[in-house]
Amino acid sequence: MMDTTASDPADPGTRQYDLGALSGAARAPLPARPALLDLDRGALAAFLGDEPRFRTDQVWNAINTKGQSPDQISSIPLRLRSRLAEEFPPALTPVTEQRSGDGRTTKWLFELNGGAQVETVLMRYRDRATVCVSSQAGCAMACSFCATGQAGFERHLTVAEILEQVHRAKDAASPQRLSNIVFMGMGEPLANLERLFTAIERITTDIGIGSRKITVSTVGLVPAMERFADANGQVGLAVSLHAANDDLRSELVPLNRRYPINELIQACQMVRDKTGRRVSFEWAMIGGVNDRDRDANELIGLARKADAHVNLIPLNSTPGYPTTGSSPQQVKHFAGVLRRAGVNVTIRSTMGDDIDAACGQLANRGATT
Ligand code: SF4
Repeated sequence: MMDTTASDPADPGTRQYDLGALSGAARAPLPARPALLDLDRGALAAFLGDEPRFRTDQVWNAINTKGQSPDQISSIPLRLRSRLAEEFPPALTPVTEQRSGDGRTTKWLFELNGGAQVETVLMRYRDRATVCVSSQAGCAMACSFCATGQAGFERHLTVAEILEQVHRAKDAASPQRLSNIVFMGMGEPLANLERLFTAIERITTDIGIGSRKITVSTVGLVPAMERFADANGQVGLAVSLHAANDDLRSELVPLNRRYPINELIQACQMVRDKTGRRVSFEWAMIGGVNDRDRDANELIGLARKADAHVNLIPLNSTPGYPTTGSSPQQVKHFAGVLRRAGVNVTIRSTMGDDIDAACGQLANRGATT
């Protein structure tokens, strides 16, 4: 059996950013056997061995472009379908699927090999369909207002586990075209950097969703932001800022103690300079905590420095965090203060809160970075 899956001790995310120091080591191991989507082209060709050479392209396109499982690849012999199915376990096993009352949001709970669980959310808008993808099971970043952070870190997702979320959402969105991907589900995507890069490369090359339609969020892993900017030119970066002074941000986002706001803003400027794309600041609106005029004024200063777009997120309640989201009137007022100062601001529409699929709610009977 081929082993194309990196083991945890060799994992760049774990080693380089010392996630263990933030929340303890991974509680679940990576799968011992790769899934089909974990294979690169060379590994697939090696597995196919003596099969005719065209088989590699045939199988590659079936699994990577069309998202087919072995039993669905009708263009190959039955014996090969059976061999693929026996050798490679599926990456995800569906546990539940929920639809919001208005039918526009679908949330899946998937079990990974080894037992950890993750969630994926598909949001259908009039003009587009967006999938919110998880990059880790749980999260080591421990943001105080986030359901995933409260549950702790289990393990990184493999390339196959990331890609299969996209393929399943693409199928479910049909006949509407899956047009956008946001890495804002469970986990800190930049802590799982190599797998994230591989998944993005496959999404753009094989699935055909352009890099400008992909957004990766980060809570501010500064060293990884540089690598991200070098590797992924046109992929958008959304920085989960949530507070514009170090005291409050360290309380909400503990990683701020390691990479304070000043360093984070410099990293945002670097991303802007290298990619030509502005970063966006994500700001979860928490009543009486970060939604006052003085918070808006501090944010205006940072948004100007970084030339950032601001995305306000009405916060959803999570059991372990005692405060509540800002009122709709306060969100509008806050947006107005920013707008009048010339800051580009949008208010994210809340979808799927009746099925705990909205921001900060994944792993909550599961997250947003
Ligand atoms: S907000 Fe994002 S980075 Fe923070 S704990 Fe939640 S999933 Fe992790």
